[in-house]
Amino acid sequence: MELQTGLSNGTVVTFAGGSLGETARVVFATEVAREHLAVTDRSPFHPQSLSWPDQPGDRGWLILADGRRATVLDSREALLNRATGILATGDAARALKRGDPDIAAVVLHVLDAAVAPGEVVTLEVDGPFRHALSLQHTGVHLAALALNQCAAPFWTKTPDDTDSLGAPNLDKAAVTQSQIGADASTDGYRLGKSLRKKGFDAAAFLSDLPGRAAAINETLRQMLTTPAPVVLTPGEGPLGDRRLWSTHLNGVEVSMPCGGTHVARLSDLAAVEVSLAPTEDGFVMVTQSRAATTAS
Ligand SMILES: [Zn+2]
Repeated sequence: MELQTGLSNGTVVTFAGGSLGETARVVFATEVAREHLAVTDRSPFHPQSLSWPDQPGDRGWLILADGRRATVLDSREALLNRATGILATGDAARALKRGDPDIAAVVLHVLDAAVAPGEVVTLEVDGPFRHALSLQHTGVHLAALALNQCAAPFWTKTPDDTDSLGAPNLDKAAVTQSQIGADASTDGYRLGKSLRKKGFDAAAFLSDLPGRAAAINETLRQMLTTPAPVVLTPGEGPLGDRRLWSTHLNGVEVSMPCGGTHVARLSDLAAVEVSLAPTEDGFVMVTQSRAATTAS
C-alpha cells in the first residue's frame, strides 16, 4: 500500500532506551481498510520490523489533549520517500531500497479511533506486554550465543564469522525465521548444503538434539550467574538507524545488531531454557525465559 502523506521526515523513536511514554505531535492520520492509522513525530512504540519481523509491534494508548484515549492495537514499520511524501507499507515498503538516502522509516500506529493531524498527544506503551516481549527477546540473544558455543565442536573448518564470545556464528549463518512471543520464542534453523560446505557437520549435531539442548541450558544457567546491565544503543534516534545490543557475560562484553527491545539487566531473568526439535531441513529452537519477579 502507498499513501500520499506530505511528510518529509521519519519517526524519532525512544524504545531502545526503554521509554514507555512520549508527548508527540500527530503529523499524519488516515483511515484505510477500516484501520485508523497515525504517524507522530516521536514515538516510544517499537513497531514490527519490515525486514526481520521477529518481535511483534507494541500496543498501548494514544491520549488526546481532552483526555480521550484511542487504543493502539498494533504498531508497524513503514517507509517514507522523503522527496515525494509517499509512505509505503507492507510489500510495497519491502520492495524499496534501504540504502536510498531519501527513504526514512516511520512508526505506523494502528488505532481504534480517528485522530486529527496537528494534535499534540501522549503516547503510552502497554508496559506488561512490552516487558514480556523484552524478556523473551533478551533470552533469545543469550540462547543464540549458547547455541553457538554448543555447536562449536561440530565445525570441521574454522569459519570466518565468529560471535563476540569467539564461537563460530551458527545462529547467524543458519537462522531463517524468528518469532518472539510474550511467553516463548521460536527460531527456525536451516542446515543446508552451503553450511555443510563451510564445514558444519549437521548430521553429527542433529544426532542428539536432547543432548544439545541440555548443553545449551547449562551454558545459559552459567551466563546468568553474573548479572550485568543490558544496553541497546543509541537509545533514541531515527527508526531507520542501526542499533546494537550489548551486555557482559561473566565479565566478557558481548554484542549483536538488534532492532528490538530488551530488559535493562540480566538479573531480570530468573532462567532461560531451550528445547530443540528436528525439522525437514534443520531444527527449531524454542526459548522460554522466566522473569525474576512478577513485577513489570
Ligand atoms: Zn534481537
